[in-house]
Amino acid sequence: MHVTYWCEMAWLPPGEIVESVVVGVEGRRIVEVRPEAAPPPGAVRLAGLTLPGLANCHSHAFHRALRGHTQTGRGSFWTWRERMYAVAEALGPDSYLDLATATYAEMALAGITTVAEFHYLHHGPGGRPYADPNAMGHALVEAARRAGLRITLLDTCYLTGGIGDALTGTQLRFGDGDADRWAARADNLAQVYEGEEDVEIGAAIHSVRAVPPEQMPVVVDFAHRHTAPLHAHVSEQPAENEACVELYSATPVQVLHEHGALGPRSTAVHATHLSDVDVALLGGSTTHVCMCPTTERDLADGVGPARRLLDAGSPVTLGTDSQAVIDLFEEARAVELDERLVTGERGHWHAEQLLNAATAIGQASLGFPDAGCLVPGAWADLVSVRLDSVRTAGATKATAVEAVVFAATSADVYSVVAGGRRIVEDGRHVLGDVGALLGEALAPLNR
Ligand SMILES: [Zn+2]
Repeated sequence: MHVTYWCEMAWLPPGEIVESVVVGVEGRRIVEVRPEAAPPPGAVRLAGLTLPGLANCHSHAFHRALRGHTQTGRGSFWTWRERMYAVAEALGPDSYLDLATATYAEMALAGITTVAEFHYLHHGPGGRPYADPNAMGHALVEAARRAGLRITLLDTCYLTGGIGDALTGTQLRFGDGDADRWAARADNLAQVYEGEEDVEIGAAIHSVRAVPPEQMPVVVDFAHRHTAPLHAHVSEQPAENEACVELYSATPVQVLHEHGALGPRSTAVHATHLSDVDVALLGGSTTHVCMCPTTERDLADGVGPARRLLDAGSPVTLGTDSQAVIDLFEEARAVELDERLVTGERGHWHAEQLLNAATAIGQASLGFPDAGCLVPGAWADLVSVRLDSVRTAGATKATAVEAVVFAATSADVYSVVAGGRRIVEDGRHVLGDVGALLGEALAPLNR
């Protein structure tokens, strides 16, 4: 089916705002981009600024149930962790399908067209596998499809509760015993979705805390065999670094480097507390770094050296991680604004670089190099942002990108086409009232 859109303004490569742009869409792809063209008869008009699809490069869907709850009292690390385990304990494939569908629909409303789900809640209570050992993974793929997103499902290897500690309690649901059994299950998952354009099965090493170094090469090998993304939580808190150095005489980045886990298809998530050597290893291997500033500030993790990493060679991407908020404009500006607070200086990042991190760079890091860019042949993702809201009114062609990155919120996204399908129109998702869907999915977890 052919649909013609006419954009009042669009952000086109190599990063310029162009007025009056006709975008032709055939099936899932863009087939035509015509700048400075009159609106053809019958074209769908998109006011404001139209962007390519945003990529959420780090998500744990079930953490949406933590919002608000982990802020009670003074919101310590322990209120966060207790709630996280309580929610993980309560979910099964059906309830996770409902929660993830609603959470991904919230992402769609925020202009996200691809989500990277860092998935480790694999098994039933006590660690008993479901009849289909990938039942939870299938629920997440189905949720993304219902919400209209592409998904990079990062099947996560999670073997120990801490360096040298066995899994206990809820953690038993995360573990496969060893990396070989993890790989057998993940291979089966990848087989099921082979050839499906909207699903990419990737791998993740949960962290140096959860995967012993000698098991890491099995996960790395999976990513190589499937030419798939490989993610890992890295140096989120100083305690992780201290325990790692004490046992392995190496930082988490060094351990990942020594076991082949860094490279252009890899993403280090957080990368908050790094040595100069760590920065050189990540940058030198062109490993992506996914910053999740709203989660990092919520958990008092600190501020990672995003600009130094970029200068060293690491492309930077963005993620909502714990879903404290779901708003990639907020994540994007936080990368610059947090760095201002740390250094006492402005001007580390241009708005355009941050928008690039949220779109083309993020999409490519998740295995969709042909997304995040409004050009013929690319995935037909069109995210339209109001420039007449209380937050964005006054934006001009010259300042639209700055206005969106530094002042817009996800509430300013009013239309989303993802993979050629219009999933948000006039601020409403095709599934209906997403607030109500979230309320229904969260209610059983709040009892
Ligand atoms: Zn995470």
